[in-house]
Amino acid sequence: MDHERYYAEAFYVEPGRCFRMVTSSTPGSQGSPTHCPKPVKFRGRFQDGIGKWHEVWSCIDHVGDLTDWKRISASVTEMSSGTRGP
Ligand SMILES: [Zn+2]
Repeated sequence: MDHERYYAEAFYVEPGRCFRMVTSSTPGSQGSPTHCPKPVKFRGRFQDGIGKWHEVWSCIDHVGDLTDWKRISASVTEMSSGTRGP
C-alpha cells in the first residue's frame, strides 16, 4: 500500500500548528495548498520523502501519518502515547 502523495511531500514544522498542507475547498482557491487549519492535538515524528525524521505537530486528522505520537493537551499530566492512529 503506497501512501497517497501530498503536494510533493509538502509539510512544515512549526510549533503548535499541524504539519500538513491541505487543499482548500473554498471556490476560487482551487488547487492552492494551504496550511491545515485544524487545531493541533498530537506531537510526533514524521519521516519525509528522503527518509529524514522531523518532530512535528498534528491535528487529529493527520496523526495517522506520524510515528511515536503523543497526545498533547493543556495539562502536561494528561498525556497518552501510542504508535497507532485512532
Ligand atoms: Zn492537519
